[in-house]
Amino acid sequence: MTERTDPFARTPGNQPPPLVGHNTVEGDQALLTAVRAQAGDAAEAVVDSLRELGECAGSPEAREHGMLANRHEPVFQPVDRFGTRIDEVEFHPSWHWMLEHGVGFGLTGAPWTSSDPVPHVRRAAAYIAWSAVEPGHGCPMTMTYAAVPALRADPTLTEQLTPGLASTTYDFGLRPLAEKRGLLAGMGMTEKQGGSDVRTNLTVAVPSSDGSYRLSGHKWFTSAPMNDIFLVLAQAPDGLSCFVVPRVLPDGTRNGLRIVRLKDKLGNRSNASSELEFVDAHALRLGEEGAGVRTIIEMVAATRLDCVLGSAALMRRSLAEAIWHAQHRSAFGGLLVDKPAMRNVLADLAVESEAATALGLRLARAVESPDDPAQRALRRIGLPLAKFWVCKRTPFHVAEALEVLGGNGYVEDSGLPLLFRESPLNSVWEGSGNVNALDVLRVLQKQPEGVEAWRDEVEAAGLPELHDGVTEVLKTIANLVDPSEAEYVARWLAARMAVLLQASLLVRHSPGAVADAFLASRVLGRHAGVFGTLPAGLDTAAIVRRASPAG
Ligand SMILES: Cc1cc2nc3c(=O)[nH]c(=O)nc-3n(C[C@H](O)[C@H](O)[C@H](O)COP(=O)(O)OP(=O)(O)OC[C@H]3O[C@@H](n4cnc5c(N)ncnc54)[C@H](O)[C@@H]3O)c2cc1C
Repeated sequence: MTERTDPFARTPGNQPPPLVGHNTVEGDQALLTAVRAQAGDAAEAVVDSLRELGECAGSPEAREHGMLANRHEPVFQPVDRFGTRIDEVEFHPSWHWMLEHGVGFGLTGAPWTSSDPVPHVRRAAAYIAWSAVEPGHGCPMTMTYAAVPALRADPTLTEQLTPGLASTTYDFGLRPLAEKRGLLAGMGMTEKQGGSDVRTNLTVAVPSSDGSYRLSGHKWFTSAPMNDIFLVLAQAPDGLSCFVVPRVLPDGTRNGLRIVRLKDKLGNRSNASSELEFVDAHALRLGEEGAGVRTIIEMVAATRLDCVLGSAALMRRSLAEAIWHAQHRSAFGGLLVDKPAMRNVLADLAVESEAATALGLRLARAVESPDDPAQRALRRIGLPLAKFWVCKRTPFHVAEALEVLGGNGYVEDSGLPLLFRESPLNSVWEGSGNVNALDVLRVLQKQPEGVEAWRDEVEAAGLPELHDGVTEVLKTIANLVDPSEAEYVARWLAARMAVLLQASLLVRHSPGAVADAFLASRVLGRHAGVFGTLPAGLDTAAIVRRASPAG
């Protein structure tokens, strides 16, 4: 008689263990390098302060909560059991776990009130090390971080709201602002008829006799509708203006914000993104009437930084998963990581990821010095070009990392599908690709100090190849006379300028192997445009070793 075997008891091996139990700060050499480059003397203190975050982000518990928060999506509750309108959204406990930790680690408004030497660099590193565990909850954290500088248009509102937005306590629930130990902020700009061109906004703001306004209209996308306040654009008598709209009024009654429905999105599924109606909603003006775009642009700029950091985070996590898999999976008689074709893929992904991290942290450092004209100018041009380039590269990067896991990468348990679905988003919101490329063009045409700041930063590496790249860009700009021709090349300019900036950072701060690979492939063009086509003669083994999550 043949013996029956239990197929599930068979353990043929060759299935890599899950990537858990690592520290996403200490195990990320590219991140540590970028922190050391941008934090100066404070670097070791920054790294020390992020150790707990890194350990938590790499824990099995965080991984599980990240998955659960996306498997159990938010549910819209229009009315309570008595039929009274409540417009609430219900979340899985894992969503709250993520936010409790993220807010607790200071990822919302804390840097704006911090006396640390480089709080924005610290937060940027924290964002990269933390957010890819569950990218959806990055949205409310980012909007809260980004609301604080915009609020500075009004000293009274700044004083009232900044402590709550900078709090490290996550205090969920719709209650009057004064009763809450921590606040979250959102933004309402995009309407049905247009998001890029907000001048077409139709929401109307009517002044009341007490100086406040009443808002009527709609927003086609308003993410995180359970947040406490929203910065909203609406048409006031003197033009498009910015308003602070609380979700709950001081007497505890709900403000006139009606959720129509939640979006059924490609990714970012843990996070609720709503369509909203304003029904005679109470609002406070922020900044001058007619200065809506000028006022909210501060929030947009800070949000764009997080798009870069969030994309760098997705690259880092997908790269770590890919290398981990290749280090534990064999095929054709050897570990995948040792196969030359795979080593080329992994090294190419590592170089892209390190460049994204380096650029994100450099721009975070520019935020530290708002009164330094050179840093301000670099931030002005650097944000749209980094947002354009890094966010555009991310879906390709994550897709290639996913493929390193073979079929397992296409399966939810691996975590890669979650990262892949998220990967296009940072390029879409806060100014889609073209809008950011056109914004770079605007700086090139109207703010020469931005071009100078970019040139100085690239030339700081003192490399002839980069000097040649700068010359080519400047020549292209000088030859742009026809506006439509200029718009036509806007993407090329943004992409090229971003690559040269990244190259300069890697040459100055990263190991030679990484900088050489980046220069050869991205600057000198010895690359076929897909990952895994680095030219010969590079130390790809060293690059992969450096990027290994196990150190
Ligand atoms: C998940 C998610 C959450 C969001 N959350 C929020 C939120 O909380 N608050 C909020 O206000 N918005 C939010 N948005 C909206 C987002 O910011 C907009 O979708 C985005 O700004 C683009 O606007 P649009 O969709 O109206 O596209 P359009 O403005 O119609 O643009 C469509 C395309 O045309 C391109 N384009 C636009 N102008 C030009 C031009 N002059 N030349 C060439 N190309 C051009 C754009 O780059 C884009 O690719 C969210 C979007 C998503 C997907």
